[in-house]
Amino acid sequence: MRPLQMVDTSTQYQKIKKEVDAAVIAVLESSQFIGGKVLNDFAQHLAVYNGVKHLVPCANGTDALQVSMMALDLQPGDEVITPSFTYIATVEAAALLKLKPVFVDVDDQTFCMDAALLEKAITPKTKAIIPVHLYGHAAEMEKIMDIAQQHNLYVIEDNAQAIGCDYTFTDGSKKKTGGIGHIGCTSFYPSKNLGAYGDGGAIFTSDDVLAEKLKKIAVHGQSKRYYHDVVGCNSRLDTVQAAILDIKLKFLDEYNTARRKAADYYDAAFAKSTSITVPFRAAYCSHVFHQYTIIFNNTAAHSRDGLNNYLAEKGIPSMIYYPVPCHRQKMFDSLGGKNFDLPVTDWLSERVISLPIHTELDHEQQDFIISNVFNYINSN
Ligand SMILES: *Cc1c(COP(=O)(O)O)cnc(C)c1O
Repeated sequence: MRPLQMVDTSTQYQKIKKEVDAAVIAVLESSQFIGGKVLNDFAQHLAVYNGVKHLVPCANGTDALQVSMMALDLQPGDEVITPSFTYIATVEAAALLKLKPVFVDVDDQTFCMDAALLEKAITPKTKAIIPVHLYGHAAEMEKIMDIAQQHNLYVIEDNAQAIGCDYTFTDGSKKKTGGIGHIGCTSFYPSKNLGAYGDGGAIFTSDDVLAEKLKKIAVHGQSKRYYHDVVGCNSRLDTVQAAILDIKLKFLDEYNTARRKAADYYDAAFAKSTSITVPFRAAYCSHVFHQYTIIFNNTAAHSRDGLNNYLAEKGIPSMIYYPVPCHRQKMFDSLGGKNFDLPVTDWLSERVISLPIHTELDHEQQDFIISNVFNYINSN
C-alpha cells in the first residue's frame, strides 16, 4: 500500500511530469518570470472555465481576499458578514483593513453560512457578505445573492476550497462557484483542488469597473508605469506557477471527479454507522470534496479527538479543520469575537474530523482507513 497522506501531490505530479517539466523549462528558457503570455493565457483559460469576464492573478488566496475588499472602497469600521467556521484568512484580511467582521453561524449540514441568519446580521454599516464554500461544498448562493441585492451589499465568494464546483439555481441555470458573487477569490496553495507548486491565487469578476480596480490595486495602485493613483499592494502570480496551473487546469474536472468517487466510497462504508454523519451534498451543488469531513458523535467511550489520535497511531493522517473557530481566536478578542453566539459553529468545531481525500486515493488505502475508523468505534 502506498503511504497515506492527507494530499498526495507527488503521485499526481508523476502522472503529468513530462508536460509540467517541459512547461517549467520553457519558462526558464524564456526568462519571462513575471507576467507574459504564459501568465495571460492561464488567466484567460481559467476565466473561461469559471464563466467570468475577468481574472486577476495574484500571489495567494489571502491577498485575493484583501485586494477584493480594497477594491470595494470599504472604510475602517465598515462591517463585513462572514462565517466564523472557516480558515482564518477569510476574516484576517478583513481585520487587516480595519473592517469589522460580523460572524454568522453556519448550517449544520452544509457547514457553510446559514442564509436564514443573514438578514438579522445586517446593520446600516454592513457593506459586504463573504460566504465561504467550505470543504468544497457551496454556500446557498441564490439566497445570499437575493438578500445582498435587497440590501445593496457586495458579495465576495471565498472559493479557495471549491474551485470547479457547479451551482444550480432554481430556474435550472448553472454557474461555477467564484463566478456568482460580485467578486470571487481562490487560492492555488499546493493542497487546494487546483494546486500550484508554490503559492498562488486569483480574483474573478465579470464587472469591468471592478476588474480595473482589482488589477490596479494588485500592482501598487498603478495606472501606467510609475504613476500610482491609489494605495495598493504588490501581489503577483509567478509565471512558472501559471505554466504549471495551466496544465493542471485541463485535469481539474477529472481531479474533482476522482475526489467525488473517493467520497462516494467512504459514504457507502460509513452509511450504517450511528457514530458518523457523512458529508451532506445539497442538490444545488456538485461537491468537489476539498476535504472529506465527517461529524463524529462524541460519547463517553469515543470522541473525535480519540479517533484523531487512534488513526495517527495506525499511520493514518486525519485533520481537524478547524479546532478553534475564528470568533474564538485570540486575534479577534479586541473585536469582540467571543461576544458572538454561534452554537452550530461551536458544536461542529468539537465534532468534525477530515479523513484523507485526494486525486490518487485507491480502494486499498480507503479500506485500510475505513477499517481502522471502525476498529476505533468498536473498541471497548
Ligand atoms: C486556503 C484558504 C485561503 C487562503 O489561501 P492562501 O493561498 O493560503 O493565502 C482562504 N480561505 C480559505 C477558505 C482557504 O481554504
